[in-house]
Amino acid sequence: MAPSETDYLVMGAGAVGLAFVDTLLDEDPDCHVTIVDRHAAPGGHWNDAYSFVRLHQPSANYGVVSMELGEDRVDTAGHNAGMHPLAGRAEILAYFDKVMHGKLLPSGRVAYHRLADCLPGKGRVHHIRGILSGEEQEITVRRRLVDGTAFQTSVPSTHTPAFAVEEGARLAIPGDLPRLWQHRTALPDRYVILGGGKTAMDTAVWLIEAGVPPERIGWVRPRDSWMFNRRYVQPGVDGILDVLTFQRALVEAAAGSQSGSEMMAKLGEGGFMLRIDPEVMPRMMHFAVISEGEIALMRRIAQVYRQGRVTRIAPGRMDFAEESVALPENTLFIDCTATAVPFGGARLRPFFEEGRITLQCATSPLVVYSAALAAFLEANFNDDAERNALCPPTPLTDCPDTYPYAVMANLMANGIHAGNAKISAFNRRCRLHLGAPAIAALTAQGHPGLAAFADLGEVIRTNMPGVMRLGMQAREIHERSFANGHEMQR
Ligand SMILES: Cc1cc2nc3c(=O)[nH]c(=O)nc-3n(C[C@H](O)[C@H](O)[C@H](O)COP(=O)(O)OP(=O)(O)OC[C@H]3O[C@@H](n4cnc5c(N)ncnc54)[C@H](O)[C@@H]3O)c2cc1C
Repeated sequence: MAPSETDYLVMGAGAVGLAFVDTLLDEDPDCHVTIVDRHAAPGGHWNDAYSFVRLHQPSANYGVVSMELGEDRVDTAGHNAGMHPLAGRAEILAYFDKVMHGKLLPSGRVAYHRLADCLPGKGRVHHIRGILSGEEQEITVRRRLVDGTAFQTSVPSTHTPAFAVEEGARLAIPGDLPRLWQHRTALPDRYVILGGGKTAMDTAVWLIEAGVPPERIGWVRPRDSWMFNRRYVQPGVDGILDVLTFQRALVEAAAGSQSGSEMMAKLGEGGFMLRIDPEVMPRMMHFAVISEGEIALMRRIAQVYRQGRVTRIAPGRMDFAEESVALPENTLFIDCTATAVPFGGARLRPFFEEGRITLQCATSPLVVYSAALAAFLEANFNDDAERNALCPPTPLTDCPDTYPYAVMANLMANGIHAGNAKISAFNRRCRLHLGAPAIAALTAQGHPGLAAFADLGEVIRTNMPGVMRLGMQAREIHERSFANGHEMQR
């Protein structure tokens, strides 16, 4: 194919790549963008996800800046009742299709190569290879290569399990479960969920809501997890006072604790963080968001295996490193061990480098807001030293004892952003930002609820030395685990 040119070559049409392009087009009226993605449709890993997956945080803060996702209302039924809706897979994919075909392509400034590999080269010249055609095209990038793949999302349908599967063992992924009705003569006597992360939780809730008696469900949870209580991350003016309440509690708990685990236990006592089993101290924290209703459902599963990771599954048996557990012969094992994103495992690099942008978290774990902010910085600032100073990458940490590193990094990043007038103005109009637009709206109304938080800035400043002490300790643990090649699995 004939060589071509573009200003920005964006690798990945997932949520992150699209959030970047959407803001870049609005902020820079002249640029041309080429997007390359292996999938047949925009939306990245959502194309591969199980049909019953939903966002775990409200739709209102997800997607791209210029297009709302979902309706501005509160759910009245189900375990998310009283809170803002969570888009499901079909809605998310339809949304990203609309972003691509309703905004990006009609702009006339975007070329989209689907079913194609992006082959980054050195310097300005890169290649695109069509997966089905095998044809390669050279592309010269006038400004930057934008890496929208840094989160390395891994889901059950595309990853390879790390345990052995003996012949005859029944292994499924969550996406297989809605088709069980087609196998009604061979339904399993027992279901065993493998993994302790959010996918496993979704699967547990789905099985119970689908009518499987909880006593027929077993759950291998190598590590239990702390999760954010969704009540405290609600969007807009309805939610902001709770968000600020949580922010205050987080800062005070960090400054007053000797370890991340102690900090999380305090936040758990306050109801800000939730865990499934109140008797078990979690050793995982992957930024998942959950409702009290889901927790209540999951607590109905009593058979929890905590012997570590399964090494082998077989008909009538599962093996751990040091133990074998007998199970009914036709047990259905459900693989929920994919890592989602590499918590604790990705090395941070500057967002802005010569000829390259790497989309990471500017505030963890707000991946789409961070991508939009990167585009804003690219279009509105002139040199990379300034851009990088305004946008230090923040880490995705793995466990309670490393999470204070993310808390510290987020507070420092928020302080930097708030100190810059252009970023503050962007945040106030950015629907992906959890706090700024709502605070601006309440301030404009002179809302009396804000008075209770007049001292929040002072509370943060006073507690910051304690947050830094705990954060630096957590950072050391995080970096030691990374250096030891510790693999963060569920
Ligand atoms: C089940 C699940 C639920 C989640 N829920 C939430 C949530 O509620 N809120 C939230 O903020 N986050 C959530 N996340 C985190 C999620 O990772 C991000 O929201 C986001 O979707 C990640 O988008 P991405 O663009 O970084 O990655 P991806 O969606 O993986 O997109 C990257 C794209 O890059 C393509 N690609 C990779 N390499 C190449 C190459 N060399 N050439 C061409 N294309 C390439 C891939 O095909 C892929 O389409 C969830 C994650 C999972 C797994």
